[in-house]
Amino acid sequence: MSQPSHRLAIHWFRRDLRLSDNTALWHASTASQAVLPVYVVSDWQGAHHWTGPGRQHFLCGCLESLSRNLSTLDSRLVIRQGDPVAALEMLIRESRADAVYFNRDPDPHGRATEERVRRLCRSLGIAVHDYKDAVLHEPGEVLTGAGDPYRVYTPYSRAWFTQAKAGILGRPKQLGTAPEVASDPLPTLDHWRLSLPGDLTLPPAGERAAHDRLKAALAGPVLRYAEQRNDPAADATSHLGPDLRYGTISVREVFHRAQQALDGSRTAAERESIHTFQKQLAWREFFMAVLGHFPHVLDADFNQQWRHLEWEDPARSDAFDRWREGRTGFPIVDAGMRQLLATGYMHNRVRMIVAMFLTKDLHLHWRLGEAHFMRHLLDGEIANNNGGWQWSAGTGADAAPYFRIQNPWTQSQRHDPTGTYVKRWVPELARCPATAFFSPPAGTRPIAADYPLPMVDHGEERERTLERFARAKEAAAAS
Ligand SMILES: Cc1cc2nc3c(=O)[nH]c(=O)nc-3n(C[C@H](O)[C@H](O)[C@H](O)COP(=O)(O)OP(=O)(O)OC[C@H]3O[C@@H](n4cnc5c(N)ncnc54)[C@H](O)[C@@H]3O)c2cc1C
Repeated sequence: MSQPSHRLAIHWFRRDLRLSDNTALWHASTASQAVLPVYVVSDWQGAHHWTGPGRQHFLCGCLESLSRNLSTLDSRLVIRQGDPVAALEMLIRESRADAVYFNRDPDPHGRATEERVRRLCRSLGIAVHDYKDAVLHEPGEVLTGAGDPYRVYTPYSRAWFTQAKAGILGRPKQLGTAPEVASDPLPTLDHWRLSLPGDLTLPPAGERAAHDRLKAALAGPVLRYAEQRNDPAADATSHLGPDLRYGTISVREVFHRAQQALDGSRTAAERESIHTFQKQLAWREFFMAVLGHFPHVLDADFNQQWRHLEWEDPARSDAFDRWREGRTGFPIVDAGMRQLLATGYMHNRVRMIVAMFLTKDLHLHWRLGEAHFMRHLLDGEIANNNGGWQWSAGTGADAAPYFRIQNPWTQSQRHDPTGTYVKRWVPELARCPATAFFSPPAGTRPIAADYPLPMVDHGEERERTLERFARAKEAAAAS
């Protein structure tokens, strides 16, 4: 066996909160006599408008689980707080580490921080190693024949599937004996001055829970994915979003386990389902590539043609509050918004419906919805969320064409024909026939006594949206 290259390597955990198939951790463990694992808790302290209690609570659970798992290797998770670069510098000096290992982040902020860490290591004269891990393919790997980024999903995904995919690495067998260094306690919500709303029900967090979710998904939902993924009442998707967000399972593991299921499947329908599921992983990486190549999407429309679109001022009415709280009088919209508040999750089909409703029926800017989702979604992922919002608003890469405006009533009929989803989340409507959710109530009588009338007329707002897009097009052409 060759000699380890490093005496002591720091593994800087970020969005890779697991031991198995963790690229940087694996390489740190094979190349060093000992590994010192650290997680640096951000010091946003509740000031950042994208920090919500549900996702931070889930993060705390992931860190607890990681800490327990590390103890099975006779190792210990060191917690530090504040700016990661300052925290790492202190830890390097205290421990006399001679290398830092980490996995690369897909977000611009994370990439900027890791560049500072590289500079720090160079200035201290120690080694720094970083790896692709959060994705199967980083933005620069999937390009057009001319070497340009894709702007449309279908050719991107075709190219994505043809690329060779890294296999699954094991779990390190040992991490050696690292020196004793001080650690802050595992964080709780108090750290960000947040508290969990009493009625929020959250799934278990951590590596074991993530593997259980993958196993359950491959035993059923993924096999019927093509047929059931748009049925919010069946809720037949993997629910792996938060795990992919915090890296309690690797995307390689999800892809390859699905591939094994596909290779062993008995029917064409199952194979199509599993392939459709894998295509969602390509959507995830498409949006990460869009963010990587076009970071302006965080501040502005991807498609600059729509920069003159007019938006309503949210301060001038209670429309945004009614949307957020699920009191719009549109049953499918209210069901989705209440599911989000109660669970930190919303079904994908309903995410599209509520997003189109906010932007095309209420004419409120997609950035308001993007921020609300980031605060509440456990799977809140900057790239996917921005991509999903800009897709729905019609302003994004490969967006829904602006003139294809979903009608919330007919969407309800098509995707929740028995009304089961609506009734689950809007108890005031439990006794109504499902047909009451398929068209607006006639006259001034609400669908149920304690349920509001629809706050807008979808047909009229649709026309207004088309007019707004037409004016924005003219303004762009004239400028
Ligand atoms: C307005 C809007 C906002 C969204 N915000 C987010 C977000 O913050 N984080 C997030 O992960 N997804 C987001 N999505 C995409 C999608 O809704 C979720 O990924 C999915 O509902 C998560 O449930 P699941 O884990 O059961 O997914 P599954 O259907 O089981 O899919 C498996 C995984 O594939 C990825 N994926 C699936 N669909 C998409 C998609 N359309 N775009 C990108 N990746 C996808 C996710 O990582 C997901 O966990 C958003 C979609 C819309 C329309």
